[in-house]
Amino acid sequence: MDYEIVIGLEIHTELKTKSKIFCGCSTKFGSPQNTNVCPVCLGLPGVLPVLNEKVVEYAVRVGLALNCEILPFSKFDRKNYYYPDLPKNFQTTQYDLPICVNGHLDIEVDGKTKRIGITRIHMEEDAGKLVHSGATITSSDSALVDYNRTGVPLLEIVSEPDMSSAEEARAYLEKIKAILEYLDVSDCKMEEGSLRCDANISLRPQGTTKLGTKAEMKNLNSFRSVQRGIEYETARQEEVLEDGGKVVQETRTWDEGKGISLSMRTKEQANDYRYLPEPDLVPVIVDPEKVAEIRANLPELPEARKQRLMADYGLSTYDAAVITVSKAMADYLDESVACQADAKLVANWLMGEVSKHLNNDSITIGQCPVAPKQLAELIALIDKGTISNKIAKTVFEEMWTSRKDAEVIVKEKGLVQISDSSEIIAIVDGVIAANPQSVADFKAGKEKAIGFLVGQTMKQSKGKANPDMVNSLLRERLQGN
Ligand SMILES: [Zn+2]
Repeated sequence: MDYEIVIGLEIHTELKTKSKIFCGCSTKFGSPQNTNVCPVCLGLPGVLPVLNEKVVEYAVRVGLALNCEILPFSKFDRKNYYYPDLPKNFQTTQYDLPICVNGHLDIEVDGKTKRIGITRIHMEEDAGKLVHSGATITSSDSALVDYNRTGVPLLEIVSEPDMSSAEEARAYLEKIKAILEYLDVSDCKMEEGSLRCDANISLRPQGTTKLGTKAEMKNLNSFRSVQRGIEYETARQEEVLEDGGKVVQETRTWDEGKGISLSMRTKEQANDYRYLPEPDLVPVIVDPEKVAEIRANLPELPEARKQRLMADYGLSTYDAAVITVSKAMADYLDESVACQADAKLVANWLMGEVSKHLNNDSITIGQCPVAPKQLAELIALIDKGTISNKIAKTVFEEMWTSRKDAEVIVKEKGLVQISDSSEIIAIVDGVIAANPQSVADFKAGKEKAIGFLVGQTMKQSKGKANPDMVNSLLRERLQGN
């Protein structure tokens, strides 16, 4: 039987407010354990939470960017459960009246646009962090808890089950991440846990509409994990169904290292949490004028920026889409163009050499050792014919490690392109004399033979000869012979 895959994503994003959601403690990542804490976030008796206004503003900003309705009246609730990383024994979150509802986001996969519904966005507090003594929970004999993260503001963005492949889920997550970065509300560092993703995955026979039993997959903490985890889980469920079995409703965790998912627990029902209204916080009333003001001040979002790069710089749809996935990458392009570089050439460098080096060093464009102005200067040297494209790659390599300017490196290493025809002719003549067979082949009509001779000439010039001149001078000399 053919199955249709049904996927919904729950994305948690930590907001980059200076202080926590209900107290004045710092949200700084990486502080010494249990130093960013106070009686409120430790849940000591007799304390009262106060809502951080910035959290509401950020939630509205995200809601508007994701085409949601902003509810003028929402409230906080207590989600009760016991776990050592939750000192209050309940999480303050939003249950039946979240701040944003009924949004949507359009994604593109394989050249097709698909609209993904967004059910709701709600505000809540993060829990603390358990640090186990061993590599895994089962191999540990003790655990310590760090409450620095307790009370860091989170937004949970819940999608409709509208995605039908791992690629769509990945594209959706990538787009949400880009929007959050453009909105400047979260640093979205998946490796630090400030953007986390759970997926609800189920299968149903192709052509039917009733949803199958879902499994919730936790711990999908990179784009790669989202893709692999969903692929693994859909294959697992298909096997269960093919064997005549039933998918159990459960929570599973993805083990990226082993490439498998494991059952954590069978799914609690919502009422297991005994949600009840938070009595210590007043309801959240959002003034429509404030919403209008936030809407008027929304920054340029990825889609608009993509259109601008296409219209102003003539970039292709593909290039503009790749560049604008990352706000920092798009900013880099704009800055290089401001230094007089050609946008298409900058885009090529960004998607080629720059991305390659970033990946090799596992760093982001924000940490790129070559500044936008320096890349613009390198491109200018190619443009003026001072260096060839090939040499430019060598120069770029050197810029990456030494952080020196392109011009300095070209001078120091004597990499200036040879565009003096008498100098090139001298090398060409030597190559012709040393390779009679290739010369004969070329004269016999084997066009390929010239490629070899060009290669030899470039090699003799240590890559510095102007390739166009080498080509035409070689032909001239061969035809003259
Ligand atoms: Zn605190």
